[in-house]
Amino acid sequence: MSNTKFLKLAEVFTYLEKTSSNLAMIDILADFFPQISSQEAKITAYLLRGNLGPSYESLDFGLALKMTVKAIAYSEKIDIKKIENLLQETGDLGLVIEEFKKNKKGKGLSIEEVFKKMIEIAKIGGEGSQEKKIIYLADLLSEVSGIEAKYIIRMILGTLRLGVGEMTFLQGLARAFGKGKEQKEILEYAFNILSDLGEVAFVVSKWGIKKIGEVEPKVGVPIRMMLANRVENLKEVSKHISGNVSVEGKYDGERIQAHIKKNGEISLFSRQHENITHQYPDIIKGLKESFKGKEAIIEGEVVAFDKNENKNLSFQILMSRRRKHKIEEYVQKIPVRYFLFDLLYLNNENYLNKSLKERKFALEKFFKKTKNITFAEYVITDNFLKTENYFNDSIKKGNEGVMVKDFSGIYQAGTRGWLWIKFKKEYEKDLADTFDLVVVGALYGSGRRAKTYGSLLVASYDPETNEYYSFTKVGTGLTDENLAKLPKILDKYKLENKHKLVKTYMNVDVWFEPKIVIEISGAEITVSPVHTVAENKIKTTGKQGGLALRFPKFLRLREKTPEDTTTVKEIYELYKGIKKRN
Ligand code: AMP
Repeated sequence: MSNTKFLKLAEVFTYLEKTSSNLAMIDILADFFPQISSQEAKITAYLLRGNLGPSYESLDFGLALKMTVKAIAYSEKIDIKKIENLLQETGDLGLVIEEFKKNKKGKGLSIEEVFKKMIEIAKIGGEGSQEKKIIYLADLLSEVSGIEAKYIIRMILGTLRLGVGEMTFLQGLARAFGKGKEQKEILEYAFNILSDLGEVAFVVSKWGIKKIGEVEPKVGVPIRMMLANRVENLKEVSKHISGNVSVEGKYDGERIQAHIKKNGEISLFSRQHENITHQYPDIIKGLKESFKGKEAIIEGEVVAFDKNENKNLSFQILMSRRRKHKIEEYVQKIPVRYFLFDLLYLNNENYLNKSLKERKFALEKFFKKTKNITFAEYVITDNFLKTENYFNDSIKKGNEGVMVKDFSGIYQAGTRGWLWIKFKKEYEKDLADTFDLVVVGALYGSGRRAKTYGSLLVASYDPETNEYYSFTKVGTGLTDENLAKLPKILDKYKLENKHKLVKTYMNVDVWFEPKIVIEISGAEITVSPVHTVAENKIKTTGKQGGLALRFPKFLRLREKTPEDTTTVKEIYELYKGIKKRN
């Protein structure tokens, strides 16, 4: 079964690239996976999404466009100028190398061989590493055919863009190794615990669906975080949760999952499962002092704080701690506190299926307050007035709002359900609401914005269809500082044409790959002929168009993945709720 050729995978990539249909992608994956070994399934899971491993251990190639051009020049023995000219024409270095190698056959390297060589290139570090990387890459390119080289180059440049969403991938696996929906739920559960599509693919292909349903959390491997739904009005909480709730301050910081191993080693993971341990040596020290058990996985919000005034500072200030150098200097400059609110694993015991009551009890028993480790404040109640008062107090203390959690609810990893509900102060203002949306296009500005983008076209992701639906165009709220930053952030994702998974009737000056997530507020959801959110659910008497946000205002850049935006379903539910109230 093993030793599948990389060429075969490149052909699968070609089929995937050509389609924008979720069902077709699932078919292609379901057909391919049973033909390959478990190890190949694992590698394929990473390569399909342009990665070399799970997100929490991600490896970068560390090769910029110029260097990659050099490698092609070496391997194909052609002049750099010639490559650059063709690159100008096509805008895609992958197509360029495919053209140069049109008539050349490869050596027939296997998936595992190509992967090993790519890992090797990524791992080269230290002095002279760029030259060495170029030589290794040139060597690899010289051994493969045009179509293989095309995808290798795109992977190295981060421009693979096959558009296989996480859920699409899991649906493909479910069809390959099971019968469908029920199996997909088991796979999704395993993915939520392991945060690693490669590991899920490996286990299911080696041992089958039953085994994958038995996975347990592992200290050191991030668990996908539980998310909250929103309500428009605090009173609506009772529609979803009966009995006691824990009403907690919603702190404006960074959510961090801390993993404390038996040997004392501690790792910190961001919401995107990035390992950010090096950024918070002060938190590591605090946790060592605070923890009284053997091993644990806990969660909380890290917030910047003003020592003199003894008050919390905004998320923006905390973000200046996001750095590779001068960490110790910033530990002093911007002190932080870690507000713990959950415990997922303790001393060899899985706590995910225990109630919040039990989880909080264990958290408070096994951690003690230190200078910078503390607990998120909360009150337990079943009384609406008490919840409302707590919300008002929380706002006065500078929090964003409250999180209301079912006190008897379990921890639903990776799920946005109704066991946790968020209510922010913005929601109180007439219909104002905030959305996390992904930038898919932009229009050039005029006047003060002449050199940059004047407005951004943003979209919401639908995990069901694996497509992005445009929701609004936002220009208001962009400060000069943000305007200057935008091209730097967005231009690496520029596309020649609209991304195949983006659905909109709007035209823009520049299209982007859906990558960058921003938070915006808006005051009204209406039906528009140019936007497409929930278009299939909105009856516009035969006319085209879906839901759109009016009076949008840019709030901030978010550290989220495009697949973690406010979903089409959430927007539609909001729209239905608002319509009913009017
Ligand atoms: P949002 O990002 O608006 O969907 O809100 C959810 C986020 O609120 C979480 O991911 C946390 O970063 C943050 N948060 C702040 N305080 C709490 C809390 N007490 N419980 C859970 N999440 C919190």
